[in-house]
Amino acid sequence: MVPSKSLKTAARRLRDGCMGLFGKPAPTRRPPEAGEVPSVDFLCNVCGKENHRVLLHHVQNREFQSCVHCRSSLRMRAVVHALSVELFGRPLVLPEFPADKTITGLGMSDWEGYATPLAERLAYQNTFYHAHPRLDITDIRDEDCARQRFLISSDVFEHIPVFLLDQAFRNSRRLLNSDGVFIFTVPYVKEGETVEHFPNLHQFDIREIDGKRVLHNVTRDGQHETFENLVFHGGDGMTLEMRMFSESDLLRNLKDAGYRSTRIYTDRVEEYGILWPMDWAVPIAARA
Ligand SMILES: [Zn+2]
Repeated sequence: MVPSKSLKTAARRLRDGCMGLFGKPAPTRRPPEAGEVPSVDFLCNVCGKENHRVLLHHVQNREFQSCVHCRSSLRMRAVVHALSVELFGRPLVLPEFPADKTITGLGMSDWEGYATPLAERLAYQNTFYHAHPRLDITDIRDEDCARQRFLISSDVFEHIPVFLLDQAFRNSRRLLNSDGVFIFTVPYVKEGETVEHFPNLHQFDIREIDGKRVLHNVTRDGQHETFENLVFHGGDGMTLEMRMFSESDLLRNLKDAGYRSTRIYTDRVEEYGILWPMDWAVPIAARA
């Protein structure tokens, strides 16, 4: 098969990119002229297509859908980058991941933009909390343990009720085989401790009162609590933000769950439009 133009371009950019990563200075760009808003060119490592003159502040925004082709955000590109480095030891674009159905993996409500190509190349299956194929990370079956080479969970664990959180971290580790890796993102802050928005959560529901959603909780010792000003993230299902993690507590959560090592992916990969403006809320890879 003749490689498509975009893949050949991707291969060239990848070579250049690897050189850049390993010490060769990145290609210099024309400096912006006075009054010009900074923009960048990048090769999207999710869809393998080139983007030109995308506003820098869009590329640096964790959630902005800055690839004009597949609408990947910085978070999505960074997840694919971390997965590639952890599985293959190098930063491949997803269309160049080797087809290898011995590599097992699960996603937790992963974005379709990378879930679909991952399923084509690897023995990967996306899962959902409310739909088939279903996975409740707080309640997994023994027969599902130690089968996965990788697990992806991007911005899910901040929605798990506090009384199930330790179990969820432990179960993520239990799903993985002995050389497995957990590719993990949540919003988190660099300093301090994790802040639980509902620390006494026990029996709760979300109600609508006067057109506003409120959380009603009955604590373990029978106290009634009501919380307003809830923060919901986009998407289906249970998207209420339950906490803001801190880095040190996250790393402790992962260690307590049985992970041997962690790597925080603050990597700057200019070629792929992975330009974190901060060193927090980035992907973490945890090794089983
Ligand atoms: Zn793309």
